[in-house]
Amino acid sequence: ALGKVAGEVAFDDVSFSYDGRKPAVLDVSFTARPGETIALVGSTGSGKSTTLALLHRTFDPQSGRILIDGTDLRDVTLTSLRRAIGVVFQEPMLFARSIRENMQAGKPDATDAEIYAALERAQASDFIARQPEGLDTVVGERGRSLSGGERQRLSIARALLKDPPILILDEATSALDAATESKLQKALSEVMKGRTTFVIAHRLATIREAGRILVFNKGSIIEAGSFDEL
Ligand code: ATP
Ligand code: MG
Repeated sequence: ALGKVAGEVAFDDVSFSYDGRKPAVLDVSFTARPGETIALVGSTGSGKSTTLALLHRTFDPQSGRILIDGTDLRDVTLTSLRRAIGVVFQEPMLFARSIRENMQAGKPDATDAEIYAALERAQASDFIARQPEGLDTVVGERGRSLSGGERQRLSIARALLKDPPILILDEATSALDAATESKLQKALSEVMKGRTTFVIAHRLATIREAGRILVFNKGSIIEAGSFDEL
C-alpha cells in the first residue's frame, strides 16, 4: 500500500494502445513535483484523457512505468492508489442519492459541518441553500436536476472533502457566464492548492496559471514549459 503520499508523480517512457496497434499514448515521460500544477493541452484525440486514466489505473501501460513518490503503481493496491488521487471530471459522477451521500463518497464519515465547509470553499453553498431539502435533496440520475456548473462545483467540494495529495481535473469546455466562470475559477484554485494537480485545460486562465504545460500531439508530448516559455 502507499503510505503518506507527498505527491511526486513520474511517467517514465509510458506507452499505451487500446487496440494493440495505434498508440493512444506514446513514450510519455515527465516528473511532477509535489504540489505542482501541470496543464495538459492538445487537440482532440491527442491522448490527454488516456494519460490521466493511466495514472488512475483505469488501464495499465503496455510499456514504461508510472511512479508515485518513487513507487511503481503496479506495486500498490488500487484502494490506496485511489485514496491518494481525487478526480473532478467534466461530467462528474453524481449518484441518484442525496447531496449528503454524494459528498460522503469523498469522505464516508464526513459530518454535515464538514460538508457545508467544503461546499462553501467550492462556491456551491448558494445553490445548495436554494434546494428544497438542503443536503437531503436527491440529485437526479447523474445529477441531472443540477446545471453543469453546479455539478462541477459539487464534485470539487467532494474532492475537497477527500483531501487527496494528487488531483486529476478535466475542465469543462462549456461556455459559462462571467459570474459562474469566476465562481468556478475560485473553486478550482481552492481545490488545487497544495496538491499535485493534472488539469486537462481548456480555459486560457487555467493554462496561464499552471506551473508547466504539456502539449500533446498523437499521444506524445511535443512541447513542455511554462506559459511564457511556450
Ligand atoms: P479530447 O480532447 O477529445 O478529450 P484526448 O486528448 O483526451 O481528446 P484521448 O481520449 O486520450 O484523447 O484519446 C487518445 C486516442 O485514443 C484517440 O485516438 C482516441 O480515439 C482513442 N481512444 C480514447 N478512448 C478510447 C477507448 N475507450 N477505446 C478505444 N480507443 C479510445
Ligand atoms: Mg479527453
